[in-house]
Amino acid sequence: MVKIFVTRNLPGEAIAKLKKKHTVQIYPKDKVIPRKKLLKGVKWCDVLLCLLTDKIDKEVIDANPNLKMISNYAVGFNNIDVKYATEKGIPITNTPGQAIVDAVAEHTFALMLAVSKRVVEADTFTRKKKYRGWSPTLLMGTELTGKTLGIIGLGRIGTGVAERAGHGLGMKVIYHDVRRDKKFEKKYKAQFVPLNKLLKNSDFITLHVPLLKSTRHLIGAKELKMMKKTSFLINTSRGPVVDEKALVSALKKRQIAGAGLDVYEFEPKLAPGLTRLQNVVLTPHIASATIEARSEMAWDAVNNILAVLSGKKAAKTVNPEVYKKNNK
Ligand code: NAD
Repeated sequence: MVKIFVTRNLPGEAIAKLKKKHTVQIYPKDKVIPRKKLLKGVKWCDVLLCLLTDKIDKEVIDANPNLKMISNYAVGFNNIDVKYATEKGIPITNTPGQAIVDAVAEHTFALMLAVSKRVVEADTFTRKKKYRGWSPTLLMGTELTGKTLGIIGLGRIGTGVAERAGHGLGMKVIYHDVRRDKKFEKKYKAQFVPLNKLLKNSDFITLHVPLLKSTRHLIGAKELKMMKKTSFLINTSRGPVVDEKALVSALKKRQIAGAGLDVYEFEPKLAPGLTRLQNVVLTPHIASATIEARSEMAWDAVNNILAVLSGKKAAKTVNPEVYKKNNK
């Protein structure tokens, strides 16, 4: 029997499947596991099932020289020192299933529509009993139809957003990525553009890159200045991709029209002044929080573990080079 440590209880039935075959210990409280308990759990287990809120650095990895694998319950894996784990021969897996693509793509539109059509402002206005009757100019917003959507990072989620934008809303799609995808361009009549052109020409810009050294502050003061005054920025990727202080300043000065954010540079902390702005819609990192996606993620995290324990390579391995390294 293998010992599996889970840093927080997960929704759905997947963990029950692990329990049938293995010894599973779950941190019982519904909050981020304290560092000491995390280290203790890692020392005890053979396999770690962790979340994006758990920092899996050298100290954690070194706490157990026999750790067989790390199964991350998330698509992003910037919470893990992947380079060090790879050096130590530890496979890391993530959970990029179709349900999470759908959930995050839909949430991107929830933010886009909410901020451009001023849904949150309008809801507050109505609840405060300020509605005195129809007016031609009351809470006017902006339409998505016919507008240019600039997608930065055309991977699984970026593509899901493009599909919905082009086919559902009649938006013109332009994109920027480190890789060009000509098939996609043909299928969606999308255009590949350099980053500065995307910033200058988009009415809505949506970020779908992973958090890497090269994507930290990809959008800062300089980039925000290049955007149209009437444009909106949407971020459902990772907070540090945007310089949040610079964004607050741009929103305050109305250098851009608005923003929709699900992730924050120092989350759960927010940049000073962000919550006082009317032209921003904020959600607490819930883009993947649908019953469908969270349950699929739990199954993926569990199936990744079962694959590795049965001697196979998990389909969703983020450091496949580890298998070449020492045949794990
Ligand atoms: P993916 O790996 O399929 O796609 C990422 C894309 O970004 C790739 O096409 C890659 O080439 C591109 N890219 C990398 N560096 C770039 C750069 N410097 N400039 C332009 N493009 C670059 O990932 P995905 O499944 O689409 O997920 C994207 C990100 O969304 C994840 O890494 C994760 O951080 C985030 N995410 C957030 C939530 C949430 O709840 N808010 C949920 C799931 C995923």
